[in-house]
Amino acid sequence: MTTADQRIQVLPESVINQIAAGEVVLRPASVIKELGENAVDAEAQHISIWTEQGGKSLIQVTDDGVGMSPLDAELCFERHATSKIRSAQDLYALYTKGFRGEALASIAAVAEVELFTRRLQDTIGTHVVMAFGQKVRVEPLRCAAGTTVIVRRLFQRLPVRRKSLRSDATEHRHNVEEFLRLVYPHPERHFRFYHNQALLYDLPPASLRERILALYPELSAEDLVPVEGETPFFTVRGYLVLPEKIPAGHREAYLFINQRYIRHALLQQGLLQVYRPLLLGETRPLYWLFLEVPPQHVDVNVTPSKTEARLLHELEVRTMLTSMVRKALAQSHLTLPVDWLLKPTETLEPALKEPLPAPSSGSSRPLPQPSRAADSLPLPEVSARLSYLLLHGRYLVLEWEGQAWLVDVRAAHERILYEQHLNRTRLSPQGLLFPVHARLSPQLAARLAELRELLQEEGFHLEVREGKEAVLHALPAGVMPGAAAALLDQLLALLQEPELPPDWRNRLAQHVARYGSPRPPYTLSAQAVEKIWSDLLACSDPTYTPSGRRIRYLLTEEVLEKLFS
Ligand code: ADP
Ligand code: MG
Repeated sequence: MTTADQRIQVLPESVINQIAAGEVVLRPASVIKELGENAVDAEAQHISIWTEQGGKSLIQVTDDGVGMSPLDAELCFERHATSKIRSAQDLYALYTKGFRGEALASIAAVAEVELFTRRLQDTIGTHVVMAFGQKVRVEPLRCAAGTTVIVRRLFQRLPVRRKSLRSDATEHRHNVEEFLRLVYPHPERHFRFYHNQALLYDLPPASLRERILALYPELSAEDLVPVEGETPFFTVRGYLVLPEKIPAGHREAYLFINQRYIRHALLQQGLLQVYRPLLLGETRPLYWLFLEVPPQHVDVNVTPSKTEARLLHELEVRTMLTSMVRKALAQSHLTLPVDWLLKPTETLEPALKEPLPAPSSGSSRPLPQPSRAADSLPLPEVSARLSYLLLHGRYLVLEWEGQAWLVDVRAAHERILYEQHLNRTRLSPQGLLFPVHARLSPQLAARLAELRELLQEEGFHLEVREGKEAVLHALPAGVMPGAAAALLDQLLALLQEPELPPDWRNRLAQHVARYGSPRPPYTLSAQAVEKIWSDLLACSDPTYTPSGRRIRYLLTEEVLEKLFS
């Protein structure tokens, strides 16, 4: 055999690592993800990350985890060197974030890397220096227990990769995004993040809810709707943000499968569908959902970054998850569009009976199939704390938390509708089967044409025809369609004034509440009463209507005595 017969060469390790680095290390944020995950896998309780110039010149991750022996400290830079799996079997029982054993090898192939590590039981630690694939130095060194990895001059010797990096600010944004994906699944650990010497995030151990609130100071505890449930296929826990409370321009919603941040188009689309009718404009859903599935049911070995997953039973998971989320939203004190409640997009109800198979069993025992339930409606459950009596189709005598109240339902509706209109929780406009017409003066027509878009934001869809006629096509959802004509009159009266009065939104909301509330007599189901009462309690003033009429009286003993004296 001559060398002419052998054109195929097995590539040297350093080249292999550089090729692999192309998939694993896309930008500084990938380094943060990999090193951060290693620290988590090492059971560190304190994890600190430093970055400079968006991570281009320096990334340092320091942890107080288990550390490495001198031997492992050298081995860890070898490709496919991992302490986390031993056999292919273990791929189906993963409890660690890493398992491919390529992160450190890849990072060391495209940067200068220094490692300081010591196990608690050792007195001396190890210092390893790598530079662009070459081992530069290995020496014993005194250092703190745990591990520090410093990555400098990322892609310096790879001009094309270096050039593909964006501005420091953009890379920094990616870094923070990766950092946040790491801190939500581990609220019990202390994380810190520094950029250019400034401490940007200091997240001491907390509950998940506290961690979310620490990172979203604009939210309060009541804005978070807890989700918790168990199905034959998965368990889920987490929080949803009430649609109207979602901060503008937030970064992303979070889905975790077995503690790992995952992009799963099918599940995320399902969640988006539940949320979309409740969202205004460009607002995107915001949630933190933690799914636990048996490890043998999920394959994250799809991309080198492991941020995508294949799931066994993904359709069932989607159906049950969206149904649970829908139910959680419906049970919150939020007012939901009626058609949203009546037309669930998903038709399976979660079957909540069977416990999860023990993850360690590893068996292929067939899982019970969920029963196909009818399109049942996940309405809010009636709270056991509330009992009531409806008088004359309008007045409620209601007992709640040991107190008795007398409530004028009509007035309550008015207050609720007013606040919902002002806070825009009723988002979608409802089309009118019979559009309402009104004649206009040329001046008013011009004015209406000019304000059309503004009014549309308020839920009124108006058309100006031939400069002399207004046609009202849609009203804010939740407003009685019978009120359309009266409301159009009020609206036009408001616009007669030469300038829009500064409080015009407030006045419009008052008209909407006054004309748009349902008229008595009412027939109210227990659910409806519960809903009215909880909506009322959520109002800024549950006792008076916006026009100052009384909504409710607390029936104290004195009040009753007066009545009979
Ligand atoms: P993987 O995480 O897939 O195993 P890595 O290349 O990220 O591969 O790490 C290789 C090995 O180095 C890990 O399996 C682990 O044993 C060790 N290691 C890496 N980082 C740390 C750390 N911060 N603390 C302790 N051991 C670590
Ligand atoms: Mg790793």
